[in-house]
Amino acid sequence: MDYQKLANLLYKNIHTTPEYYYEKFPERNLAPKAEVTRIAPSPTGFFHTGTLFGSMIDKFVADKSNGVFFLRIEDTDQKRKIQGASDIAYQMLKKFNTSPDEGFMGEGKEQLGSYGSYVQSERLEIYHAFAKRLVELGRAFPCFCKQTEGKEDIKERRAKQLEELGSIIDHDPCRNLDIADIELNLKMGKPWALKLLSTGDPDKTFKFTDMIKGEREIHENTKDIVLVKSNGIPPYALAHIVDDTLMHVTTVVRGEEWWPSLSAHLELFRAFGLKPPKYAHTPVICKLDEKTGNKRKLSKRYDPEADTRWFVVEGYPTTALNEYLLNLLNSDFENWRKANPDAPYTDFPFSLKKVGSSNPMFDVVKINDISKNIVSKIPGKELLRFIVDWANEFDQDFAAVLLRNQDMAEKLFSLDRDGAQRPRKDISHASEVKELFGYMFDEYFDKTTSLNFDEKQPKESIVKLLTEYKKVYSETDDKQAWFEKLKEVATACGYADMKTYKANPEAYVGNIADASNIVRVAVTGRANTPDLCSLMQMLGKNRVLERIDYVVSNLK
Ligand code: GLU
Repeated sequence: MDYQKLANLLYKNIHTTPEYYYEKFPERNLAPKAEVTRIAPSPTGFFHTGTLFGSMIDKFVADKSNGVFFLRIEDTDQKRKIQGASDIAYQMLKKFNTSPDEGFMGEGKEQLGSYGSYVQSERLEIYHAFAKRLVELGRAFPCFCKQTEGKEDIKERRAKQLEELGSIIDHDPCRNLDIADIELNLKMGKPWALKLLSTGDPDKTFKFTDMIKGEREIHENTKDIVLVKSNGIPPYALAHIVDDTLMHVTTVVRGEEWWPSLSAHLELFRAFGLKPPKYAHTPVICKLDEKTGNKRKLSKRYDPEADTRWFVVEGYPTTALNEYLLNLLNSDFENWRKANPDAPYTDFPFSLKKVGSSNPMFDVVKINDISKNIVSKIPGKELLRFIVDWANEFDQDFAAVLLRNQDMAEKLFSLDRDGAQRPRKDISHASEVKELFGYMFDEYFDKTTSLNFDEKQPKESIVKLLTEYKKVYSETDDKQAWFEKLKEVATACGYADMKTYKANPEAYVGNIADASNIVRVAVTGRANTPDLCSLMQMLGKNRVLERIDYVVSNLK
């Protein structure tokens, strides 16, 4: 077969060559061990939490080696492309502290870097030059049959092959067409796709060292994969090989789901005479399916947390998600964090070698714990600003309430936090604050909750205690005076200190803790709150007395 003739037939308008591009995009001028990494999302909707997971690896690998991390948009699947999704990818990377150094910088913004375009749909001519080269080398052929086999067709063909040949070879029948047939088909205007003429032996395997999973065995490729579709657009396989080569990527970090295609990708690199980059196939974040009890991939369809934006909507500090993902990546992160409580997480000695190979489970309790820790270190004033900023976007009513009660809110968020040895760890994300502390604001306080007393306490005793307590309460009392007063009133009303009460419970209505809980429920409607004396001061005497009065007149 005259491959040069075939190449000219198929790509008569392509006059550039791979060599032209190799020269146009020369080696980067970086330190010898510097790594170049990229995240290459397809703009098919939102920015997946798993993609951020991979991006964090990319950024660590690049930053720790003084390299470059860039964002490339892989929009060759025009059918799945969603308007605005590329912009979301950039915005989310930025939001979650993983800004790229180079590449796509958002819709309408100039791309950064000299290896662009970083948007695949703007690179078709480049891909065609490489496709043409493969035809010239006798490693690619046009296929005129149905473009994609259905799942059933594949199953049937493979079963037949297994029976007849003893192994499966995904060879395409069009690889055997001679040039006359091809010319005829082209003249008739038949659509064609370009496919790889694979040369692997189905019975042979070879070893490959994955940067995360170590040495792995892999089958030689026997699939005549599609290189360019009939619309002239290359799918992922060819596009990423050309791009990663011309953009001088040193390590490709991508999900484990790509592992089965690696053999075909390596064959393509070889066909071009190119050295492939290193590959790191990452574990995939999973979840337990509530219905089946099985482990499954975190899914766009069922799991809101699969979308990075969910963490924004819920009002997590962005570093909470970073630290959580880092914890899934390197299990020693938790100990490192304990030993370095105030260091930025980016100081952590991340290593690809420490990434576990099993798929981690998404655990909302864990991220909440990590987040509580982070929030506990934010000074009250800053925390209020964070919550107001969140509320301005997602709960304007709450934002207005916070601003109307700004002084009190600032005190509330500073309580047992600012400068405390062991700060309060009760808030993990902004959207739960209204539920946690709504009782501090008249706008959200539900009076009826202040009647929810412990059933064991006789109503008359509650009323008696509150009536007496009301008479002596002073908002200027410090914590100690506050407690002494409460104790005095409680004792007069038949409550005893813990020790005395325990020795003879029958003789008393309750103990001091019961008494202070009565005041707590009456004033806040809650059985658990931060320091009650401080909360009462923040609420102010009038409000406190009003709330107590309500209980006294309504407890029946
Ligand atoms: N566009 C591919 C995806 O979104 C990227 C795979 C890769 O990182 O190489 O899955």
